[in-house]
Amino acid sequence: MRPKILDQLFKPIETARGIGPRLKLRLKYLIGENIIDLLWHLPNNIIDRSYTPTISNAEKDRIVTIEVTVLKHNPSKRRGLPYKVKCIDETGEIDLIWFNGRRQYLEELLPIGENFIVSGKLEAYKEKKQIIHPQHIVLSTKSKSLPNVEPVYSLTQGLTNKVISNHINRAINIIPDFSEWQDAEFYKSMKWPSFSEALKNAHNPKNESDIDHKNPARQRLAYDELLANQLSLALLAKNFEAPVGQSIKKNNILLNSLYKNIPFELTNSQKVAIEEISQGLERPNRMIRLLQGDVGSGKTIVALAALFQASGNSKQAAMMAPTELLARQHFESIKNLCLKSNIKVEILTGKTKRLDRERIVHDLSAGDIDIILGTHALFQDKISFHNLGLVVIDEQHRFGVHQRLSLTSKNSNNPPDIIIMSATPIPRTLELTAYGSMQVSRLLDKPVGRKPIKTIAKPLSKVDEATESLKRLMENGEKAYWVCPLIEESEKIDLAAAEDRFASLKNIYGNRVGLVHGRMSIEEREETMKEFKYGNKNILVATTVIEVGIDVPDATFMIIEHSERFGLSQLHQLRGRVGRSDKASSCLLLYRSPLGENAKKRIETLRETDDGFIIAEEDLILRGAGEVLGTKQSGLPYFKIANLSTDRDLLETARNDSNYIIENNLLNNSDRGKNLKILLHLFNKEEALKYLDAG
Ligand code: ADP
Ligand code: MG
Repeated sequence: MRPKILDQLFKPIETARGIGPRLKLRLKYLIGENIIDLLWHLPNNIIDRSYTPTISNAEKDRIVTIEVTVLKHNPSKRRGLPYKVKCIDETGEIDLIWFNGRRQYLEELLPIGENFIVSGKLEAYKEKKQIIHPQHIVLSTKSKSLPNVEPVYSLTQGLTNKVISNHINRAINIIPDFSEWQDAEFYKSMKWPSFSEALKNAHNPKNESDIDHKNPARQRLAYDELLANQLSLALLAKNFEAPVGQSIKKNNILLNSLYKNIPFELTNSQKVAIEEISQGLERPNRMIRLLQGDVGSGKTIVALAALFQASGNSKQAAMMAPTELLARQHFESIKNLCLKSNIKVEILTGKTKRLDRERIVHDLSAGDIDIILGTHALFQDKISFHNLGLVVIDEQHRFGVHQRLSLTSKNSNNPPDIIIMSATPIPRTLELTAYGSMQVSRLLDKPVGRKPIKTIAKPLSKVDEATESLKRLMENGEKAYWVCPLIEESEKIDLAAAEDRFASLKNIYGNRVGLVHGRMSIEEREETMKEFKYGNKNILVATTVIEVGIDVPDATFMIIEHSERFGLSQLHQLRGRVGRSDKASSCLLLYRSPLGENAKKRIETLRETDDGFIIAEEDLILRGAGEVLGTKQSGLPYFKIANLSTDRDLLETARNDSNYIIENNLLNNSDRGKNLKILLHLFNKEEALKYLDAG
């Protein structure tokens, strides 16, 4: 339940005074649902109105604030012509201009002979000075009501700065008197304003430095937000790691049989990760661990070792993939290994036929299946396990999916251990905000024998050379991906580009070219993928990111069209589709010239390194966390105020603070705790408080 003190702030935004249906839609689009969201909409610039010249001195293109006397109204003679109000001071003349100005309104606003202070941008038309649509007009006698410096807000069509400012100011006026939730000593040492002062200051900048993110008011708000984030994750983690749990003992016989059957030597970090996970499973309290590793680093086998450990303890294990295709791929790659070790494995997805489904559901609850693979649907359906010991979640490129899962396993009194696999190396900052202080195993090295991928960049005009080079590749029995441009706004155009490329390649290479895209049915896609992986297709034209996670070791060439449109991490992920065997691979980035600064840097970085962690850091710097996090699909938490590329120190502090709060159970038994609960509500983290009550 939300504390009463927050009622006003959490009213729907349209309940504020003077908001009609049109304005409501615009505000909801730009700002958010509730009045409180107005507060988070911080200005991104200022207008300085302190320049107060006379008319004759006033310089063009500056924001001027001038005292004038109204001389004459010149209403527009025809539609489309401006309405002019001629004004003077003792040095000269100036026109105030309105397009579509209503006569009656303007005559009442600016009576002839009256003195006003007007403010706006000074322009000139045929040597005549003018201000078009003045931003402020006040009676000279009321000059005090005119601000010297004004905040400038980002806007959307149909909204003016004035309207937004007014609504924000009203919201500021209803901020209740909160008690401080920050640690008293820390708060003092930072010399920060209180929460409500911070909001007031942030919305009333006095100079340039007040809109800088490093300004104390903004830093305080950023810290509040980060602390709310870290606290909610810590509560979640605590709930996960509640002392109840299962001890899953290491089973060397089974592990050795697995090792005997895999056709390669484990990398060092695979060995370390398997050992870390094995010990975590063995401990009686619940394990929740993040397994991070670049595409191709070999996470599947690490997960499999854990699944085997569960089987060795007669416990069931489940592995979930984000898509059906990936679930199948996992299934294909572990099926035989399981068979050889006498472990019963099945796959269950939305596509499983009814009879199979019934059988599998039955066998699961009877305990006749050891390992089940599937999509997230596995946990949404009413499926019961005989004794589930371990869940592996392959999040691939989405983050924080496990948070939703946590809800499903919350009420179980014997919850399974959990491993979350992420294929996107994420910078430490993001890791912290998405996963909190969860335990992490990292795969840092690549399987031996992998040759570095040669990365080349060429302008799109060389596309024919690229087409030509496929010939030689195919003669060697190798395979290539051809990724078509990313056009985020439109799936349709996306598809058209891929279909065109497919057609032109097919003209030359006939049936050895395949096409996959997001609009195909799973069956069609899978059929083509299979032909590419095992059959006679050597070239796969694909739209962007659909097929990440696909493993085709024979693929040695990756062409990315319009590579300048892709983000750095995305390019890295795509490139990771090749270089998966001991054959030399290359990646050709076709770009449209001239390249922008940022795109140039992305391509350079890609050519210089293939270390996913370095690339992720660079991506964060280049795009800014807002961009990286802004995409809703990523699942990463979105921050309203904090800026993850510049607030790393604050984040570390917030994490320590939050650990301290949880370890000392401050939320339950201190005054600070009561105030912190308000903080969680303010940033919509009240969900996490459920875990607090749970224990
Ligand atoms: P990812 O981390 O992207 O999920 P996978 O587990 O799919 O990577 O492994 C990629 C490929 O590398 C697979 O074909 C797998 O069999 C192979 N592989 C995994 N570990 C090793 C290793 N230590 N040596 C050689 N090949 C390996
Ligand atoms: Mg994988």
